[in-house]
Amino acid sequence: MSAHVASKEELKSSTRQLATVIDLNKCMGCQTCTVACKNIWTQREGSEHMRWASVATCPGGGYPRDWEQNGGGFDAQGRPRPGRRTTMVECGDNFQFNHGDVFSGGNGQSKKLEPSTSCGQTPKWGYNWDEDQAKGEWPNAYFFYMARKCNHCSNAACIDACSRNAISKREDGIVVIDQDQCVGHRHCVEACPYSMIYFNPKTQKSEKCIECFPRVEKGIAPACNRQCVGRTRAYGYLDDPESQVHKLVRQWKVALPLHPEYGTEPNVYYVPPMSPLAYDEEGRLSEVGRIPMQELERYFGPDVHGALGTLLEQRRLRQVGETSELMDLLISRNWNDRFADFTADPV
Ligand code: SF4
Ligand code: SF4
Repeated sequence: MSAHVASKEELKSSTRQLATVIDLNKCMGCQTCTVACKNIWTQREGSEHMRWASVATCPGGGYPRDWEQNGGGFDAQGRPRPGRRTTMVECGDNFQFNHGDVFSGGNGQSKKLEPSTSCGQTPKWGYNWDEDQAKGEWPNAYFFYMARKCNHCSNAACIDACSRNAISKREDGIVVIDQDQCVGHRHCVEACPYSMIYFNPKTQKSEKCIECFPRVEKGIAPACNRQCVGRTRAYGYLDDPESQVHKLVRQWKVALPLHPEYGTEPNVYYVPPMSPLAYDEEGRLSEVGRIPMQELERYFGPDVHGALGTLLEQRRLRQVGETSELMDLLISRNWNDRFADFTADPV
């Protein structure tokens, strides 16, 4: 009798779904999440160029470089969109620095620290090359930070694309690549519209964020979420009515997926940034936000209008001394309220 070959629908299904919410009003671009992830998962040979968790300045090209231009995901009819592979250079390469020369070579007064690419050249682009570059005219310039990782999508394009059925969802909704099954075709790299899959040239296999599942299985939140010093992040099961992710996504509807039009049903949700108000021509504060609404709509879809309306209304309530459960949720006075069942200590 031949063994059962799982269908793509079976590979994409899960009993429950873990989700992350990131409040972009509180993210300060400190990169603690990036470093927490890098220290644990991508220090291995062949993974040096990867950042499974990253933070980039918006609006900007983002990370990997210009990832929104790479295609992938699905079109409005649910058909796969062609995508392209990211290169190691677009993922930030593996820069080397002349530490020896400057710190121990006796040249500290005459030389400065300089990066070189893995091929020994002067870099022309790197991770966060456009960090803190604002858009808009003074005095109404603006930018905000976008923290990203794999979205552990409910309709994951990477699962559909894998010719080896090496990618699947676990029962908790985490999407993983079976390294024993992967043969490095990289169809998944092309299919992910968020450019969240990386190729390891050492192992010749594809890799991605595993949502720290060895921690999650012990009740510990993923490192990017737990280490966030800005208390921007909530974590838990979407169907748990007590979890902050449920309250922010399902109840208050103020946390939205990034680029929902890509059709993969992502499970990282964002509380959109409430713009500082713009100055008018006389230098007075106007009623209009600095970040153009069409810009926010491009990132988060048309639901961003309703989400921002709710956020502003609830903020006004607090300003006049009323209570607001939503504002209390977002302030997060107790850090561990944000992580539902995932508050165990990693130590
Ligand atoms: Fe797959 Fe990309 Fe979705 Fe992650 S973000 S599950 S890699 S399609
Ligand atoms: Fe933003 Fe938190 Fe990451 Fe710092 S650790 S960059 S505040 S998401």
